Amino acid sequence: MTDKKYPQFTDEHDMFRKAVRDYCEKELAPNAEEWEEARLFPREVFQEMGKLGFLGCRFPEEVGGAGGDTWYTAVFAEELPRCQMAGLAMSILVQSDMATPIINEVGSDEQKEEFLVPALKGEKIAALGVSEPGAGSDVAGIRTTAKKDGDDYIINGQKTWITNGTRADFITLAARTDPDDRYGGISLFLFPTDTPGFEVGNKLEKIGNHSSDTAELFFEDCRIPSRYLLGHEGAGFYYIMQNFQGERLVGALTGTSGAQIVVNNTIQYCQEREAFGRPLTGFQVTRHKIVDMETRLEACRTLTYHATDLFDRGVPAQREISMAKLMVGDTAMSVIDECLQLHGGMGYVEEGSVARAWRDTRLLSIGGGTSEIMKEIISKLMNL
Ligand SMILES: Cc1cc2nc3c(=O)[nH]c(=O)nc-3n(C[C@H](O)[C@H](O)[C@H](O)COP(=O)(O)OP(=O)(O)OC[C@H]3O[C@@H](n4cnc5c(N)ncnc54)[C@H](O)[C@@H]3O)c2cc1C
Repeated sequence: MTDKKYPQFTDEHDMFRKAVRDYCEKELAPNAEEWEEARLFPREVFQEMGKLGFLGCRFPEEVGGAGGDTWYTAVFAEELPRCQMAGLAMSILVQSDMATPIINEVGSDEQKEEFLVPALKGEKIAALGVSEPGAGSDVAGIRTTAKKDGDDYIINGQKTWITNGTRADFITLAARTDPDDRYGGISLFLFPTDTPGFEVGNKLEKIGNHSSDTAELFFEDCRIPSRYLLGHEGAGFYYIMQNFQGERLVGALTGTSGAQIVVNNTIQYCQEREAFGRPLTGFQVTRHKIVDMETRLEACRTLTYHATDLFDRGVPAQREISMAKLMVGDTAMSVIDECLQLHGGMGYVEEGSVARAWRDTRLLSIGGGTSEIMKEIISKLMNL
């Protein structure tokens, strides 16, 4: 399937790719209109993906994963956009690659048993609760507090923009345990959403990613036992930064492949659609536009694969992952905008998936750290 152009993908990866692709194209894509309209997809999708072994493809077998390397995650992230709903893909990637890896890395055996194992089976839905109304890019600016009270913590505050927020069973939650220490005063918790005092506020109406829910969350005197503290108290900011690497990497992988799918469909459209007595590809300007898009996506893919390779080998990759996220966020949007243009009026109507991809892709340079923040990170690493 990959014709060994990229030798990192083995026959086993290719088999996994086929399984994910078949599932996305046959079981999910036919429902795209309905689930986009409903602004949510069924909970069973998590369970089905859990049973198929997709959610835990790179987690160790002890926690119910398949024990695969990061290239399985790459395959998974690349094939998900074939469901034609970036919202669904994002919700699933929150479950598999954003809210849960840190539990595997720093969680206790009991925490893994209670939260991670059912999440990888798709039985418990996970969310990642970091952003707040007053703190998005500025993670260290969060104000939600977790105050120690005997053997418990009492959580008070508010989160916003939380994917899977309306129906998560637990949240990997960032809260402030020390008001006087900006970076060392943040801790991570595993927060069960049936805790008294927890409330889901507005479900946010977004311009894209319609099939996923994004919510405001409120915490009022929510008492959780201290065994739900994840890792060490005060290490939360550093765990979040560590966790961001995987999150940004899957963003770059899924963004590149999502844009490639749109380009492939656009090529087919341009070969079939005629104007002035010839197919659109009969115009040199169209062919050159297509070549430019293909070249830019190949560059995105190569940089993203390089970052994936570093990440997989445990080599520090913050620079390359930030670059990949930055480049893909901006390139995918401009490529899909060009695809929309090549569709003419057909690009501006809901029929077909270009319009949806155009709306959905706008998120890539905002979510999981904006393009400006990626540039800040890279410039710091360059000691400018
Ligand atoms: C659909 C969606 C889903 C999301 N899902 C989640 C989720 O599941 N969990 C979660 O915790 N968060 C989630 N987020 C939040 C997301 O991570 C933030 O929106 C993002 O980090 C930006 O934060 P902000 O919206 O507060 O923007 P701000 O931080 O207010 O930024 C506004 C603008 O200022 C720029 N800016 C800010 N600081 C600087 C600086 N130092 N230098 C230069 N420019 C700067 C930004 O780049 C941006 O252009 C989601 C967001 C969306 C839209």
